[in-house]
Amino acid sequence: MATSFVEQGELNLQFENCLKVKEFLKNHLGRTPLAFTHTYGCQGNVAEGERIDGMLKMMGYEFCDDASKADFVLFNTCAVREHAEERVFGNIGMLKKFKETNPNLIIAVCGCMVQQEHIKERLRKSFPYVDIVFGTHAIHTLPEHVLNCLTKEERVFAVPESDGVVFEGVPSEHTNTLKAFLPISYGCNNFCTYCVVPLVKGRERSRRYEDIINDAKRLVAEGFKEIMLIGQNVNSYGNDFGETNLFSKLLKEIDEIPGDFIIRFMTSHPKDCSFELIDTIAQCKKVEHHLHLPFQSGNDRVLKEMNRHYDRERYVTVAKYAKEKIPDIAITSDVIVGFPGETREEFLDTVSLIREVEFSSLYIFIYSPRVGTKAATMPDPITAEEKSARFKELSDAQAAVAEGRNLSMKGKTYRALIEGRNKAGRLGGRTSQNIMIEFDGPDELIGTFQNIKVTEPLTWILKGELQ
Ligand code: SAH
Ligand code: SF4
Repeated sequence: MATSFVEQGELNLQFENCLKVKEFLKNHLGRTPLAFTHTYGCQGNVAEGERIDGMLKMMGYEFCDDASKADFVLFNTCAVREHAEERVFGNIGMLKKFKETNPNLIIAVCGCMVQQEHIKERLRKSFPYVDIVFGTHAIHTLPEHVLNCLTKEERVFAVPESDGVVFEGVPSEHTNTLKAFLPISYGCNNFCTYCVVPLVKGRERSRRYEDIINDAKRLVAEGFKEIMLIGQNVNSYGNDFGETNLFSKLLKEIDEIPGDFIIRFMTSHPKDCSFELIDTIAQCKKVEHHLHLPFQSGNDRVLKEMNRHYDRERYVTVAKYAKEKIPDIAITSDVIVGFPGETREEFLDTVSLIREVEFSSLYIFIYSPRVGTKAATMPDPITAEEKSARFKELSDAQAAVAEGRNLSMKGKTYRALIEGRNKAGRLGGRTSQNIMIEFDGPDELIGTFQNIKVTEPLTWILKGELQ
């Protein structure tokens, strides 16, 4: 499928709408309008939220961190698990009282949740004070909806069905001054049976190679110290142009951009993670030694039921190759416990895999049935208590693995980007392996790279000394 790009003419109309909103607010509000926006979920959503903020800025909004003071409140939502969805509904419910005190307040909800029919209808019926609901394929149309909402006082539901679009040229309002997310593709073609992402984010669409390179150069010139390339499956970047291994080429070219910065990327799908990619990480100077490679389950029957297109052996082979080529690499992963029908023996294969691969950290999720996915129709006899017990057992096993790994870092020195102070007042940064390290030092070090010697490795963080 050819990627469908939003035409410049259409975007120009939206930019004009931004100016119209700005003019309207200037005449009717008589002060600077304030926006409160909040993004839930993955880095992809965060990057979309930054483009939405970019458009709001063009409309004249400034940002505040208190929804009760805002003239425009937006929730950019995540649909990956039920728990996340319920949290969003709770937070939308809390906005009702702000609407009562400020009738001019505009409330908007967007992102993956609203792309689901049953959620859109729940918002329509049970949350009448939500003014604008716009889907993942209508992000660039926000200015027109804000304008209509202000001038015609219309409730808007803009949730087109689509395989997805790509739009370029909307400036991002970055939430972090040191680290920038740089999307390289949108959507997903994999249809893992438990996952709602392909249903709500559309088919995989790669951005144009030159657009990504130009963005990377601009981010470096703007002073960002870390660029994280993001996509649901970065390894298949460019497959929709008929290219293979284009991601390795992209990494090498960004690595060549002059400047003191580091490169990270996520997520890698094990079925597409080539040895060439690992060789590329090893050759590059700026690509950090961290590979996020979600395995989801250590059992072959469950992996098949999940439609993951690799088996345990393939996963272990890739992980071992990465460790041989790059001995200090950290491999992290996502895993689901309690997939429908997962037996205790099958779960124990997952426990043994984490010991075999020695992950430096794991995101463990209890399976959550998602409307419209194949897994949601599979018999699921395992009780919630059993699933929680498996979660705890796996967390404990991983804590022991991480502790052992971190212990092996004692006495060694690691370069880290210093990000700021933690609650205890100590400076903190992340090593190449993406492990948090804290130490004492002056504020001037924030935003710089420093060498830190590990003096006290703990389970989740390292304590160290400035060298
Ligand atoms: N594209 C990425 C992951 C995106 S979703 C990948 O394939 O690795 C992030 C993680 O959420 C997944 O890796 C999976 O572990 C988890 N997840 C997705 N759907 C889920 C569900 N229905 N229940 C529980 N966890 C889920
Ligand atoms: Fe979901 Fe699988 Fe696509 Fe990841 S690869 S987003 S888990 S369908």
